Amino acid sequence: MLVWEWYDWRRRTISSLSPNPGHTAVARMEKIHPEFLLITQNVDGLHSAAGSKKIAELHGNIWHVRCVAEGVVTENREVPLAEIPPKCKCGALLRPHIVWFGEALDADTVRRSWSASKNCEVMIVAGTSSVVQPAASLAEVAKSAGAFVVEINPEETPISDFVDAGLRGKSGEILPLLIP
Ligand SMILES: [Zn+2]
Repeated sequence: MLVWEWYDWRRRTISSLSPNPGHTAVARMEKIHPEFLLITQNVDGLHSAAGSKKIAELHGNIWHVRCVAEGVVTENREVPLAEIPPKCKCGALLRPHIVWFGEALDADTVRRSWSASKNCEVMIVAGTSSVVQPAASLAEVAKSAGAFVVEINPEETPISDFVDAGLRGKSGEILPLLIP
């Protein structure tokens, strides 16, 4: 099964990575501000590895699998996978709990991200080209609701025009300076 072979390869690659100083800075932010919510399009699980707990993972997580029959999501950390394709206890196939192209995002995760964006005082948009929806529009939601929006990215993006502060550089370098 080609899809799982590819994901198995990605999981093996990711398992050799460690969180960078940007990930650990975000985890510190959560400790300082209990209201903080991390909204991410990353699926690599490195934010959790760095210690973040409150995460809205818009595109899912490569370490989670979902039963195609029951829809139940569980964690699977096997590297490499013992069996390809992996199977649920019920006998049905498991699929990566990842949002694939053309699939709808999880409604609860979107609602949670939208609500946090609408109610926040400060939004930091880091390490994204801000072209993928709905993540790109969350900055606009925050801005319209009166939040102070900070963008951290090496290049300008579609949201650069309206943010309150634009910090040009890598999130792994700037976030630790912002959240020491
Ligand atoms: Zn099942």
